[in-house]
Amino acid sequence: MYEFAVAPAVTQIRRRGVEITEVAPASLAAELELEAGDRIVKVNGRVVRDYLDFRFQTGGETELVLEVRKRSGEEWELDIEREEGEDFGLGFEQIVPRQCANECIFCFCKGNPETARPSLFIRDEDIRLSFLYGNYTTLTSITEDEMSRIIEQRLTPQYVSVHATDLDVRAHLLGIDRRRADISAKMRRMLEAGIEIHAQVVLCPEINDRAILERTVRDLAALHPKVKSVAIVPLGLTRYNTDERLTPVTPEFCRRTIAEVKLLQREFRQTLGTTFAFLGDEIYLRAGRPVPSRKHYGDYPQIEDGIGMVRSFSNEFEALFRRLARRVGRSAGAELDGTIMTGKLFAPALMKMVDRLNARFESKLRVVGVENRYFGGDVSVAGLLTGECYLAARERLRGRFVVISGASLKSDDAVMLDGMRLDELRRELALPVYAHDFKSFARMISSGQWPVVSGQ
Ligand code: SF4
Repeated sequence: MYEFAVAPAVTQIRRRGVEITEVAPASLAAELELEAGDRIVKVNGRVVRDYLDFRFQTGGETELVLEVRKRSGEEWELDIEREEGEDFGLGFEQIVPRQCANECIFCFCKGNPETARPSLFIRDEDIRLSFLYGNYTTLTSITEDEMSRIIEQRLTPQYVSVHATDLDVRAHLLGIDRRRADISAKMRRMLEAGIEIHAQVVLCPEINDRAILERTVRDLAALHPKVKSVAIVPLGLTRYNTDERLTPVTPEFCRRTIAEVKLLQREFRQTLGTTFAFLGDEIYLRAGRPVPSRKHYGDYPQIEDGIGMVRSFSNEFEALFRRLARRVGRSAGAELDGTIMTGKLFAPALMKMVDRLNARFESKLRVVGVENRYFGGDVSVAGLLTGECYLAARERLRGRFVVISGASLKSDDAVMLDGMRLDELRRELALPVYAHDFKSFARMISSGQWPVVSGQ
């Protein structure tokens, strides 16, 4: 998946320690005269590589010796006593992701336009980001140091792209040899050490579907409950990824896959007590089938991978609809006059919900399914829409404001994949534009704090 939760820097000379970027006023760190730009090099004699190390090495310790390299170049050694649980009040530089050494035939980097910004070409394969943000890794080039770190620092759960347990197929998909493709011993070692794994399969028609998929899912299910779940997400092709080895995902393929996996899911619910193998929402939407019930998803173990988001959203929508119906009058939505722009895939489902809202509260909301002109191909999810895509759909806007998907913005900055900023989009459309994710949209509606159009 496209991932923004990482620092955009691809290369960086690795300096000793971890850099402090923020010191909270009146905190323990401020008292120690630590400053932004200083680097913590060691804690109690142990080398610190990043903020995870710092967190691990200071956790639970009340007596600490910090070795610090000051911004000025001075070396300090600080003997510290602190209260149990007392926070340092420090912010640290982001982790610079380690790069993968695979050549996956479906790699998202191959699907980017050449002009895409450099951060979109980051091929991160980093067990730290897997633990922190749920980024998937293939474990093909994990080092002994990283493996020991996962186990020692309890970096659990880990998210592992398995794709296929058949080694020839896995090697083919990852563009590597069989020996490197074989991660069974690595997975076993992690599982035996109590590290939990969520697995992923990027489903490529005619490569790892049908019997290969069944075997993969069954092999992983045999490792349950240590392997917690498997997410099966469809291959996504943009107009730039034209590799002849890949077959596009069709609605028919999605329907067949749903039927096949349903049998396994039923079996797992009986034998394991969980659905275990979850299909991505996209598969149901493209098949034109309803997404499964709330019960199917349990505690939504793979929601970050787009599994169960539609169900979760529509259930929240139902709940807020009922709340609103109890709380506000029939004409409460009369001022709510705007357009929601989303991906073509989700638009029909959202339209049904919004129609109910309009009918009940006299609101005038419209849903516009926006075509992805930037990536083309079969990319139809909201999160990959760009400023250019939104602008191209401007003729279809009605009302006094626009809502776009918050997922189309970088996680820590209001900028879209083509570099257009949210402010720029507002200016171009000459309308207030609100970026919402599923949850904040539901909150906006339920709070009654519907967009105020003046003064934007
Ligand atoms: S693991 Fe494969 S899909 Fe992921 S970044 Fe590397 S080459 Fe691309």
